[in-house]
Amino acid sequence: MTTNAQEFARARGAMPGGVNSPVRAFGSVHETPRFFVSASGPYVTDVEGREYVDLVGSWGPAILGHAHPAVVKAVQDAAAHGLGFGASTPGETELAELIAGRVARDGVTAPVERVRLVSTGTEATMTAIRLARGATGRDLIVKFAGHYHGHSDGLLAEAGSGVATLAMPGSAGVPAPIAAQTLVIRYNDLDAVREVFAARGDDIAAVIVEAAPANMGIVPPAHGFNAALADIAHAHGALLILDEVLTGFRVGPAGWYGIDPVPFSPDLITFGKVVGGGLPLAALGGSAALMELLAPLGPVYQAGTLSGNPLAVAAGRATLDHLDADAYARIDAAATTIADAAASALSEAGVTHVVQRSGNLFSIQFADTPPVDYDTVKAQEAFRYAPFFRAMLAQGVSLPPSVFEAWFVSSAHDDAAVARIVAALPAAARAAGE
Ligand code: PLP
Repeated sequence: MTTNAQEFARARGAMPGGVNSPVRAFGSVHETPRFFVSASGPYVTDVEGREYVDLVGSWGPAILGHAHPAVVKAVQDAAAHGLGFGASTPGETELAELIAGRVARDGVTAPVERVRLVSTGTEATMTAIRLARGATGRDLIVKFAGHYHGHSDGLLAEAGSGVATLAMPGSAGVPAPIAAQTLVIRYNDLDAVREVFAARGDDIAAVIVEAAPANMGIVPPAHGFNAALADIAHAHGALLILDEVLTGFRVGPAGWYGIDPVPFSPDLITFGKVVGGGLPLAALGGSAALMELLAPLGPVYQAGTLSGNPLAVAAGRATLDHLDADAYARIDAAATTIADAAASALSEAGVTHVVQRSGNLFSIQFADTPPVDYDTVKAQEAFRYAPFFRAMLAQGVSLPPSVFEAWFVSSAHDDAAVARIVAALPAAARAAGE
């Protein structure tokens, strides 16, 4: 048997930082990353044979729990028929129809008439931006500080997730003329939106927004923010790209779009994570008129060798099929219990904190008032998260290794799994207070 430390040492000799995605290196929590060998339901097991209750959930996709039997079977069945054809399959159409049918709300025109399947959330947002530029003939994009939309050149400025965890302003290697096409403004600030559109409105192709931001920790949108954003963008002939890569099919059957208290009309919506059921699949959807600007019908090019891969499509379909009202009820209930227990434990330990929630997504923030944007998120006592995280890990609970990430609950988090998390929280809260 090897140890996690031995695996990490070996990995660092083979891969930069020993990882294939930066936050996995556990840098901000000052801990040795765990190397996992198996997972089932709400549990993951590392190379040392240690089991943890998991609240990372593969960063979102494992919404039914790990290795859900129906998802595994769907993938096995698909694999037995061929790993990929580089040609169309009936399953792709079925998944596209499933996505379009789900993303709807009463009394509002359904925003998704056509879907393009891609392999990662990064591709989905990158394509959405190219499409918005192609449709409007404009170049500028507006994004919000602290929002993460993947790692394409134009979207890394003041990004959340790993960029925030590593406290990077953006990325080296992005040419200045490309970065200059992205205007970054404060989140939850409609005056900032109005100002940027007043100044540059004729050149703005789109504003891209996380439907409910979860990559700087959870920062819920102010009441009506998304609707106002849509109105302002549309008044200036620009599009609203709603990034639901993280929230889509997680916070409810129609994503955040379905539960935002004020209905609104996004032009393009991006999906990822849950929609691929744990395999590499993401998607982009919108009206037929917009989406049919994509090649082969239109002039906006996009393609992918593995786009709509049959195994990923099978995993996505099986996952969406099992996400019924009962599954959401279980996720919501477990999330509430864990979020409330975290808040109680921190209060009991006298640690200043808020637990922010957007539907069943939540995270703790070491601040005395609820952060509303990236500046207030960064002002918290983030250093308290590392000891909190390590104490949870030592007690067999795997949390996201960064204060800037959401906690992902699954429908497999039953009473036993939740009880283990709840039992671990008081010691972690005390560690955070030291
Ligand atoms: N958009 C959002 C809101 C995300 O949370 C992420 C990933 O965390 C992405 C886009 C990028 O997705 P991917 O990591 O699949 O490229």
